[in-house]
Order: sequence, then structure tokens, then C-alpha cells
Amino acid sequence: MKATRFYGVGKPIEIEDIPEPEVGPNDVLIKIAGAGVCHSDLHVIDGDVDIGETPITLGHENAGIVEKVGSQVTEVEPGEGVAVFGAWSCGHCRFCDIGEQSLCQNPVWPGVMVNGGWAEKLLVHHPRNLVKLNGLDPIVAAPMTDAALTPYRAVKKVMSNLGPGKTLAIIGVGGLGHMALQIAKAVTPATQLIAIDISAEKLTMAKQLGANHVVDGMGDVGAAVKAATGGDGADAVIDFVGNDATLKNAGASIGIAGKVIVVGIAGGTLPYSFWNLPLECEVSSSIWGNRQELKEVLEMARIGLITPHIERQPLEAINDVLARLHDGKIQGRVVLTP
Ligand code: NAD
Ligand code: ZN
Ligand code: ZN
Repeated sequence: MKATRFYGVGKPIEIEDIPEPEVGPNDVLIKIAGAGVCHSDLHVIDGDVDIGETPITLGHENAGIVEKVGSQVTEVEPGEGVAVFGAWSCGHCRFCDIGEQSLCQNPVWPGVMVNGGWAEKLLVHHPRNLVKLNGLDPIVAAPMTDAALTPYRAVKKVMSNLGPGKTLAIIGVGGLGHMALQIAKAVTPATQLIAIDISAEKLTMAKQLGANHVVDGMGDVGAAVKAATGGDGADAVIDFVGNDATLKNAGASIGIAGKVIVVGIAGGTLPYSFWNLPLECEVSSSIWGNRQELKEVLEMARIGLITPHIERQPLEAINDVLARLHDGKIQGRVVLTP
């Protein structure tokens, strides 16, 4: 089967013919219909994130059609459309016990630790890592498994701060951020939304997706957010970049008793002390999402509440796609369609 292969930091992704994986008793072989290209893949390729052995097939945002099932698998059958839940978990640690698979202490993430979905086929280690699509297009479903799931969990973390008269600021209107805007509109329509990005095209998209205000990320972001909130600052800020500059802007934008959620993994820091942020601010990271949350975002997509902006590309385009993602030139999400 055709697959993309990552050989190490600084090396271009190769397209190769590799043997189709063998299907063990609990495995499910998926024919990939769509595999999203996430900025986290770039962090892996740039060496910011350590991964398992190379060569490896990247790609953790996957959906497709069941092709083969192992002898013990009864939950799905060949021909069914499925989204692949990517935070494969051990099933027995203290976080798996409470259904928080993305916090699992012994995770095996496809596309990071074992072969992922930038290929014609993906071996899924257990049917519990699949969610049936119930008619949703698998190409639309692919980015739901991360580009929508991750912001959904982040928005849920700040829901108690949102509602009529409240403001959510979203930093970075890329693959995750453009879904965050739609998710916030869907689950808290009365909340004022401020979108912040350094690209005019992304801010135009943010307006189209319902942002009430857009702010140039190169300007005085804190002042602009305060101006849009009667001087108070935002009730919640979600940072989908996470470098020093955006975390500084998050701190400058948040109001008293606000909540800052860091999703972007660019490695910046936000100094915290009693006086450094407004009184009683909370700061948290947010990692991916759990299986139940994935079911919920897939349902939002199925009923048309959220719609990813997708650019389809063949596997062969991967290096060009990564270069454009690196330069901030991708609108929404690229989904590879092998
Ligand atoms: P993306 O490249 O599609 O989007 C990033 C956006 O940020 C772009 O629109 C870019 O123009 C904008 N941006 C860059 N610098 C900015 C600045 N200084 N101010 C404002 N906007 C700026 O990336 P993505 O796929 O949406 O991923 C976003 C981040 O989230 C990445 O760091 C990725 O690794 C991370 N991520 C985290 C999780 C998690 O579970 N925590 C999951 C998926 C992705
Ligand atoms: Zn990702
Ligand atoms: Zn676990």
C-alpha cells in the first residue's frame, strides 16, 4: 500500500510502497478516506516533539471505511464508515477509569508513536478507537477527530465563564481556531467572540464564521480586546498558538476571574504570580479530547452545526502542504485523500 514515511527531523517526507499491516484478533484495518494535516505534525517534523521509532507514517486525524476486522471484532463490519479516535489509551489507568482517554498514562497515539493515517490504510488497534459516522462524510469527519475535538474540550473548560454579556477571545484562526469559532457559536451563541490572527485572510474567514470582532495579532492585542469589552478584558481566552508572544497577548487580554486555556504547543511560557494576571485568573492547558467528546463533535458536524473548511490533497502533495502550513498559508484544514 502507498504510505508517507517520516525519516527524521529535517528530512522530507517520502512516499513509499509498504506492506499492508497484518490484522490481529482485535484489530481493524481502515481504508483511509481522509487524513488531516495538523500543526502538531509540523512540531514533530521540526523536532519540537519527541516521537517513537522512525521511519513512521504520521497522521492522527483519520476517518475512512472499515476494510477488514480481526477474528474477535464484532463492533464494526467491513464497509462501515468510521472516524478514528486518536488518543489510543491503555484502558486501565486512573484516567482511563474515568473516561479521560487523552490523559491516559500509557498512551499509544497513531501517527506519533505507531503508524498513522497519511497512507492508503491504517491499522486500528481496537474497535473502541472507532466511532461510526451515521452518514457523515468521512472526509469531513477526519478533522473532527482533532481540529474540532480539541477546541471542543477547550471551550467546554471555559463554559462557566461564557454566555450573554461575556466574551471569548480566540488566538489563532487556523485548523483548530476556525473550528473553535464555530463550536463556540454553536454551544454558546450569546457569547461575544473576538478572533486574533496575524493573517488578514484568516481574519476574513473569522468574520465569515461569525466573529464579532477581529484583531491583528501584530498590534496591541490587549488594548483591542479591552476596547471591545468596555475595558474589562475577556472572560476566557483560548490560545491556539502557545508561543511567548501569544501567551503574553492572552495575559494582556484576560479579565478578572478569567480563564486562559493553552492549546498551542509552540513552547512559550506565561509567567504566573498573584499580581501578574488579573485577580483570580485561572490558566490551564487542554489536551485533545475523550471518546464521548468526539461523539459529540461528530454529531454537531452531522447535523450541520459545524463545518470544517477543507482543502483536499493527494498523499503526494504532503511536503508542499507542510511548507504552506509552516508559512501560515493554509485556510482551515488540509485533508489528505489517498
Ligand atoms: P494552524 O497552523 O492551522 O493554525 C495556527 C494559526 O495561528 C494560523 O492561522 C496562524 O496565522 C496563527 N498565528 C500564528 N502566530 C500568531 C500570532 N502571533 N498571533 C495570532 N495568531 C497567530 O495550526 P493548528 O493545526 O490549528 O494547531 C494550532 C496549535 O495547536 C499547534 O501548536 C498544534 O500543535 C496545537 N495542537 C494542540 C493540541 C492539543 O491537544 N493541545 C491538539 C492539536 C493541535
Ligand atoms: Zn493534531
Ligand atoms: Zn490509560
